[in-house]
Amino acid sequence: MKFDCHVHTFPRSSCSTMSPETLIKASTEAGIEAIVITEHDYLWSADELNSLRLKCIGGLKIFAGVEVSCIDGHFLVYGLKDLKGISFNMSSEELISHAHLNGAAVVAAHPFRFSREDGQHCYEIDIDGVEVSSGNTSNEAGRLALKLANERGLFQLTSSDAHTTSVIGKYHTSFPSHISTILELAEFIRSVNKVS
Ligand SMILES: [Zn+2]
Ligand SMILES: [Zn+2]
Repeated sequence: MKFDCHVHTFPRSSCSTMSPETLIKASTEAGIEAIVITEHDYLWSADELNSLRLKCIGGLKIFAGVEVSCIDGHFLVYGLKDLKGISFNMSSEELISHAHLNGAAVVAAHPFRFSREDGQHCYEIDIDGVEVSSGNTSNEAGRLALKLANERGLFQLTSSDAHTTSVIGKYHTSFPSHISTILELAEFIRSVNKVS
C-alpha cells in the first residue's frame, strides 16, 4: 500500500500553501493510498482528523504524525497521542526517549540537507528510520542518508515532504495493507532490524 508519510498543510504548517482538502484530492488522483500529515511542531487531534476523514471521498487513509524541530534537526514522530512532554528545541535524544516510552517511532527527516556534517549525529542516536529520499532531499544528501540507513540497518522512508501539490505522487513508501492505525505504522517502522 502506497503511503506518503511526510506532508504539510496550510494553515497548521504556515510554510505550506496546500489546504488539507487539496492534499486529499491530489493524493487520491496521484494513486497514493494513505497519507500521514506531519505538520511542523503540531499534531492533529483525533477530532480534527475525524472531521477531515468525513470530507474524504474514496478510500484514502488519513493519519497524523508530527515533524518536531529539535536543536539538532527535524524528526518525524509517528504514534504520539498528543504533544505533552514535547518542547520545541529539545534535543533529539530527549525526543527519542519520550517517543519510545510512548510506543512511537522516530525517523530523521531530510538528514544532510545542509551539509555532510549536519546528519552525522544520526549515527549516534537511537532513531528508528531515515528519510532517504524526498522532495526536499538533494541527490548528495540522499546518498549520505541511504548510507546511514544501510550501515545501521534502519527503516528507509521515501516521502514527498510536500508543501504544495507539485510533488504529490512522486514519492511514496510501501507498507503492508493491514496497517490501520498510526501506532501500527510506528510498530512496523520499529520492527525493522537494526545492526547492533
Ligand atoms: Zn523539515
Ligand atoms: Zn517536512
